[in-house]
Amino acid sequence: MTTLIEPEEHKALRAAVAALGKRYGREYIARTVAEGRHPTELWAEAGKLGYLGVNLPGEYGGGGGGIAELSIVLEELGAAGSPLLMLVVSPAICGTVISRFGTEEQKRAWLPGLADGSRLMAFGITEPDAGSNSHRITTTARKDGADWLLTGRKVFISGVDMADAVLIVGRTEDARTGRLKPCLFIVPTDAEGFQKQPIDMELNAAEKQFELVLDDVRLPADALVGDEDAGLLQLFAGLNPERIMTAAFAIGMGRYALARAIEYARDRTVWKAPIGAHQAIAHPLAQAHIDLELARLMMQKAAHLYDAGDDIGAGEAANMAKYAAGEACVKAVDQAVHTLGGNGLTREFGLATLITAARVARIAPVSREMILNYVSHQSLGLPKSY
Ligand SMILES: Cc1cc2nc3c(=O)[nH]c(=O)nc-3n(C[C@H](O)[C@H](O)[C@H](O)COP(=O)(O)OP(=O)(O)OC[C@H]3O[C@@H](n4cnc5c(N)ncnc54)[C@H](O)[C@@H]3O)c2cc1C
Repeated sequence: MTTLIEPEEHKALRAAVAALGKRYGREYIARTVAEGRHPTELWAEAGKLGYLGVNLPGEYGGGGGGIAELSIVLEELGAAGSPLLMLVVSPAICGTVISRFGTEEQKRAWLPGLADGSRLMAFGITEPDAGSNSHRITTTARKDGADWLLTGRKVFISGVDMADAVLIVGRTEDARTGRLKPCLFIVPTDAEGFQKQPIDMELNAAEKQFELVLDDVRLPADALVGDEDAGLLQLFAGLNPERIMTAAFAIGMGRYALARAIEYARDRTVWKAPIGAHQAIAHPLAQAHIDLELARLMMQKAAHLYDAGDDIGAGEAANMAKYAAGEACVKAVDQAVHTLGGNGLTREFGLATLITAARVARIAPVSREMILNYVSHQSLGLPKSY
């Protein structure tokens, strides 16, 4: 890769994070999952080395970089087999929203902890009856004196058991137009009226998903992040990094799976030559590699635009990057499993479990179809069916 696309500092960061990831690897994650633990050691070490907060402002304990740097961290940890899903949420969404729109007090209270990993914030937008249609969000905040009372339900919220707080997307009671006028609230996970219930997912991951019930959760006035009336802009300031980081998650996982398949295909010999000599095995692996590289290019473009302050340009590129990376990851994992034959389905080789994990990048945080809708309408100007 040329320096034009990847500057020397990025290459150095990539190499350093890859070395950290290698020390932990897939075995570490498999062990933490089996023991029902969180990847605390890796999270703490990555925090200490400055990787978790690499995108956050230097004056609040961060590295002063951007999403370009944070996406490198997640991609390389994933490529080593030890991705940290909460990087998508805690520093990328919550850290970004607080650094861009939070008050000085909120920044001081949260950013240093999010940057060194000693504190963690989850993010809750998805609701059972709204799903992809976030305009239907009904989690509602009403004023009670100076306080807010927040009521609603959320689903599939990742990492709530690891989090000190959840950045909840709600709406104010007087949203008269029926259009989404979101507001963002920092809700401590130990607040009265905050209940969490784990969802039984077919995912072999250390980060669990939760259903949340918010029953008149009382919050101080300063729980609101940003302006009550500038909601959508603020929300997208967090959602674009989320999409770029999901692309990084997917590319890392795809690279990990592909590397295992290549190792296997070089050695495994059932006829005269290793199976990797058969084009039926080699070509799909080559295609998977090309697709992952292309997805990474789009991710780098999205991160570049976002870090340069072009929220609109970044919106389109982040959607495209998430789409390309999700598809590339699903195909790479599928082909990797196939390359290993029966071993692709053994626990020892640990690839089959990635089949469901790879699907996450196709569904969340915005599904493949919703991205195709976005590109159809926003980029191509085609009419809407819904
Ligand atoms: C592992 C995991 C972790 C997650 N973590 C979080 C989290 O931390 N925080 C959070 O807020 N959410 C989280 N989510 C939720 C995720 O963002 C949603 O699952 C996603 O937005 C899709 O919503 P849904 O599941 O309700 O699907 P639905 O909206 O019900 O969609 C179902 C299907 O219908 C399709 N569809 C819907 N509308 C249209 C349309 N107009 N045109 C064409 N097709 C359409 C979709 O593409 C999809 O295939 C997570 C989900 C998973 C699986």
